[in-house]
Amino acid sequence: MTPSIDDQAAQGLRQLNNPKDEPTGHFTGRCMRCGSQDLWDDNTAYGCNCCGGFWCGIEPRLVPDSSQPTPNAELGDDPQPTTGDNNHG
Ligand SMILES: [Zn+2]
Repeated sequence: MTPSIDDQAAQGLRQLNNPKDEPTGHFTGRCMRCGSQDLWDDNTAYGCNCCGGFWCGIEPRLVPDSSQPTPNAELGDDPQPTTGDNNHG
């Protein structure tokens, strides 16, 4: 287990690890704390081998396809009551 350093130390490491100030955080391949690319990951979490940061809870969700029109639920097809019923029996 990598010992975790404090935020102030991690900020200092950003200058060394990420001198070009490239994007950091989820899906960037860089640690959001110290900017290091020395990350580990498994299927539920990832962490930084440099500062000891650890992130989890990234849950990909299936986004509904918004390009398809939503089905019209209300058709408003009310049957008209028949009038003038002459039923002579
Ligand atoms: Zn880090």
